[in-house]
This record gives sequence, structure tokens and C-alpha cells, in this order.
Amino acid sequence: MARIFSGAQPTGNLHLGNYLGAIRNWVTLQDSYESVFCIVDLHAITVWQDPKALIRQTRELTAAYIAAGIDPERCVIFNQSAVTAHSELAWLLNCMTPIGWLNRMTQFKEKAGKDREKASLGLYAYPVLMAADILAYKATHVPVGEDQKQHLELTRDIAQRFNQLYEKDVLPLPEPMILGAATRVMSLRDGTKKMSKSDPSDYARINLTDDRDTIAQKLKKARTDSEPGVTYEPERRPEVANLIRIYAALDGRTTDQVVADYADAPFTTVKTRLTDLAVEKLGPIAEEMKRLMADPAEIDRILAKGADRARAIADPVVAEVRETIGLLRP
Ligand code: ATP
Ligand code: MG
Repeated sequence: MARIFSGAQPTGNLHLGNYLGAIRNWVTLQDSYESVFCIVDLHAITVWQDPKALIRQTRELTAAYIAAGIDPERCVIFNQSAVTAHSELAWLLNCMTPIGWLNRMTQFKEKAGKDREKASLGLYAYPVLMAADILAYKATHVPVGEDQKQHLELTRDIAQRFNQLYEKDVLPLPEPMILGAATRVMSLRDGTKKMSKSDPSDYARINLTDDRDTIAQKLKKARTDSEPGVTYEPERRPEVANLIRIYAALDGRTTDQVVADYADAPFTTVKTRLTDLAVEKLGPIAEEMKRLMADPAEIDRILAKGADRARAIADPVVAEVRETIGLLRP
């Protein structure tokens, strides 16, 4: 049975990249796959989180999933720390993952900053926890943004190594699903960096909850170049290409179509139309999030039910892994 697993971190500032690269695709996929969507709070704490903010952001991300169109009846929605299978399997997989594999992970290098010695062990081991998230559900497909491709390859390597070590096909190798016209939305300030929740500049991203004025301001200030005309040249004009891709993804068209429409227009016209488009697509989601956030007890009920359903899938898988390794359950 085809099953998808995916998640996002409750690190606040949910943005257009998260929506176009991940959440929007989940909404479509829920019709054809058994779907498990996680709020990965254990990943969030690999960097410092204020406890009260973490709780609020966990509920907010749950509200965002539902507001974007994920159906909590059909899909399993839960927060990672409520299902202990994730951390248990992560430890078991830690013990068979060579350090050399983790040394190659680019996200750690980006997030650890200059003084790598001060980064947490959790941040370093993050990709193994992510492998555990996916493998605990024997997920067949994992819809993510382009930035997670390397972690998914590692997940497959870890699963394969486990199966080889124990000469048994316990963990299926999941397929990445990197879908849509905007699989890697770039920062509005720097065309070489991806849009991120953790970027200290709020002007680098469009948040799902930004109002019209904020979106208009951010797009107005978004970096472009001084060349006239609208062309799609990702290598030479990365910032312009980024905005064209965002436009295409929001409007359900190709980058070629967008370029054809604006070929001779000044780029400010594209920015103005893009503002309208972003408000039109994100506005209703933000509104529904606000409505859902007014009843945190209901969100907690959804998460509690989701965690029960998640445990029913993940616990037997972890038991099978434990048994395969030879860990006694007296
Ligand atoms: P953080 O900076 O805290 O890591 P993030 O913006 O990278 O936050 P995550 O919660 O790590 O967000 O990722 C959630 C999902 O969103 C993942 O599937 C990831 O691939 C996707 N994603 C994140 N940033 C982008 C982006 N700029 N473009 C497309 N997809 C993205
Ligand atoms: Mg990230």
C-alpha cells in the first residue's frame, strides 16, 4: 500500500516556500495515498526554542496544515514528540549510521554556522531522526522541497544498510517526491539562499500570515537586477527567475507562459500582479488559521487522535526493528 509521510518544523514563520514546496502538494496527494503528516517538534529543538513559543507554533502549524486543505479525518496529523517511536528508532538507526555519511550533509553545515563545535549533537544527528520519521511508517513516498533531497538519499542508504546488515527486508526504501514549479523557493533578499523560517530577516520571505501591505512591501523591496525586460534565466538572473517561478506556481502556469505575458513590461508590473496573486492564494489560508487558532483545545484533540493513529502504525514497525536487532523484550 502506498503511504506518504512528510512534515514541517514548528519553528514559526511558515512561508511561501513551505507552502509551494511541500504543504500544497500534500493537499493534492491525500486523495491518492494513505497520508501521515507530522509537526516535527523534535527537529525544531535541534536549535533553541522558547518553550511557550514552541507550544504555540506547534498548534499554529497544525492549524496551517488544516487551513491549507489537509483533512484530519482522512490523514494522520500529529506532533512528533507525542509518538515515542520516532526517538527510539532514531537511536537504533544512529547505531548503524557511519559518521562519514553525516559529515556530508549540507544542511548541518549551513545551520551550524561558523562555530561548528557549539552546534548541538541533535542538529548533527537531525538526518537520522528524519530517516526514523519516515521509516517508522514504512512510507513509500516522501513529498518534500528540493532542499531535503540529500536527507532523503541518506534515509534510503540507512534503510538499505539496515536490511543488508540483518539480511532481511525490514525497511522499504522510500521514494522522494519533489513536485511543482517551485520546489526551491529562494530568499527575496538573496537569490542564492533558500527562503527559510530561520532566516533572521523577515524581508527574506513571504509568510502565510502576512497581510496585503506586508506582502506588497516585501515584494517591492525584493532584490532584482537593473536589466530591462522579463526573461527567465535562472543562472544569470536568479532573483528574477525566483519571482517568475513563484508567480508560475501560484497561478498554475509554466514559467514560459508568465514570461510571454510580461515580456515587455517593467518588472514592477510583475511584482504588483504577484502581490495580488499571493494575497488571493494565501489570504484565505491565513484567515482559516486564525479561526482554528481561536480554539486551541480542538487543535489538541485533533493532535491527540492523530498521535493514537500514528502509534498504531509506528509501534509495530519499531518492535519489528528491535526484534531484528536482537533486543530482548522480556
Ligand atoms: P527552517 O529554517 O527552520 O529549517 P524551513 O523553512 O527550512 O525552516 P522546514 O520545516 O525545515 O522549513 O521544511 C518543511 C518543508 O518545506 C520541507 O519539505 C522542505 O523541503 C520545504 N521547504 C522549506 N523551505 C523551502 C523552500 N524555500 N522552497 C521549497 N520548499 C521548501
Ligand atoms: Mg528546513
